[in-house]
Amino acid sequence: MASGSNSLMWFRKGLRLHDNPALEHAARGSDLLYPVFVIDPHYMEPDPRASSPGSKRAGLNRIRFLLESLVDLDSSLRRIGSRLVVLKGDPGEVILRCLKEWSIKKLCFEFDTDPYYQALGDRVKNYATAAGIEIFSPVSHTLFNPADIIQKNGGRPPLSYQSFVKLAGEPSWAASTISTEISWLPPVGSVGNCPTSEVPSVEELGYEDKEEDERTPFKGGETEALRRLRESMSNKEWVANFEKPKGDPSSFLKPATTVLSPYLKFGCLSSRYFYQCIQEVQRNVKRHTSPPVSLLGQLLWRDFFYTVSFGTPNFDRMKDNRICKQIPWKNDDDLLAAWRDARTGFPWIDAIMVQLQKWGWMHHLARHCVACFLTRGDLFVHWEKGRDVFERLLIDSDWSINNANWLWLSCSSFFYQYNRIYSPITFGKKYDPNGNYIRHFLPILKDMPKQYIYEPWTAPLSIQVKANCIIGKDYPKPVVAHDVASKECKQILYEAYELNKRLNGKVSEEDLKSLR
Ligand code: FAD
Repeated sequence: MASGSNSLMWFRKGLRLHDNPALEHAARGSDLLYPVFVIDPHYMEPDPRASSPGSKRAGLNRIRFLLESLVDLDSSLRRIGSRLVVLKGDPGEVILRCLKEWSIKKLCFEFDTDPYYQALGDRVKNYATAAGIEIFSPVSHTLFNPADIIQKNGGRPPLSYQSFVKLAGEPSWAASTISTEISWLPPVGSVGNCPTSEVPSVEELGYEDKEEDERTPFKGGETEALRRLRESMSNKEWVANFEKPKGDPSSFLKPATTVLSPYLKFGCLSSRYFYQCIQEVQRNVKRHTSPPVSLLGQLLWRDFFYTVSFGTPNFDRMKDNRICKQIPWKNDDDLLAAWRDARTGFPWIDAIMVQLQKWGWMHHLARHCVACFLTRGDLFVHWEKGRDVFERLLIDSDWSINNANWLWLSCSSFFYQYNRIYSPITFGKKYDPNGNYIRHFLPILKDMPKQYIYEPWTAPLSIQVKANCIIGKDYPKPVVAHDVASKECKQILYEAYELNKRLNGKVSEEDLKSLR
């Protein structure tokens, strides 16, 4: 094996050539460069017992999106004299083996705040440091370095968006042009005995790819990310006037937002490049919206949540999480399954859950509605259970953002106005009175007259017969009476908040039992 200046670029997220400081550093001064991706059974092992196709931790849509992103990365690398080297197994073990077998002198990988990747990174770093291998692990997944913001705030993360924005200021790199071109990479060396492969297909990973299954319309990869970005940015008026939470959550043929989240999640798109493109549009228009509602403001929400999650131990659970209210959530698996499998009997909620299963993406307000319904709005099921379902099925599933939003929507942290509940009946109707969204994702209700589409259980039997949909037989009756259930939820939350106040957040399991 050659032992000159060999480098290994370990792709985990950051699946792109543009604005990729780790890749640029790996290439600099290297004779040979190994761009590596490890197929990790932790995420990718098929699970025949899962409630829908995919692995235990990732739905098939996201697995497919990832593989498409890898194919795209491989073909971009090939255009500049390299290729993606794919291996399979526990990434820690695989990378250690590669470092040894290929006499690597420099290891580069993007810094990641997700605890799973942090632990993996630490394991590899420990070995590499002891072996005298240079390590370069830059922060390039986010606009800011979460550690810097936490340090500026005296060692604790800011807990409000406003304080985050104030502390963060303008990113240091904002004024300089971000590198979007890599025209050449050193060749890949011999892989020796390491069992490498091409990017596998979903079938090669052991999944059944059924033609009849509706798939996500969003295709993975940097090429598609940059195309979507250009398309969004070309509508300057739209970018300048972007205002969230305005926007129609039921608009599915042309979503009301960019749908760049899955590309940001896998790093097919650099958030810093996205930020600069928005700034460029804003410079060239007379007036534009501002954070928190503007498009640029959305990227700051992302960084805000990355920062809080990075600086909060046990961020992904209620127990021992100092920013999370202690609430006596129910562990009702039947209600959870009804919600997950789109069988709540509330068409607006069920249609959103079908969009989640089929597309792996829903509008932000649609996510609000189903998360509120499962937790503090109606079913009072633990937010961690809903988080797990989203984590598995979303194509943009992101450890920091998903947990943060579930904490928010369940009124466990960040947002505490538990009296404000999304009605599973009237909220969607405001945007889509005809129920086109419901008709698309729940075709069993496609012939239900408009006046009953949000509450089909109120339709007279003769209408149900005419619409070919008998409630209780073809489509479920509501799992709860919304008015009663939401009142009960508010009452328990009131009591739980009082308890948290009285005990200064130090609420035990026993204390919670007294509220159940
Ligand atoms: P746009 O409105 O076009 O925004 C551009 C980018 O800003 C997004 O791609 C995203 O990266 C970021 N962004 C927008 N809204 C938020 C937000 N509220 N918090 C943090 N970043 C934001 N988003 C994820 O990326 N991954 C998740 O796992 C995830 N889970 C969620 C769970 C719940 C319960 C809720 C209510 C929201 C969740 N979100 C998540 C946030 C948000 O809904 C999505 O980021 C957004 O809908 C993605 O669509 P878009 O790319 O068109 O967004």
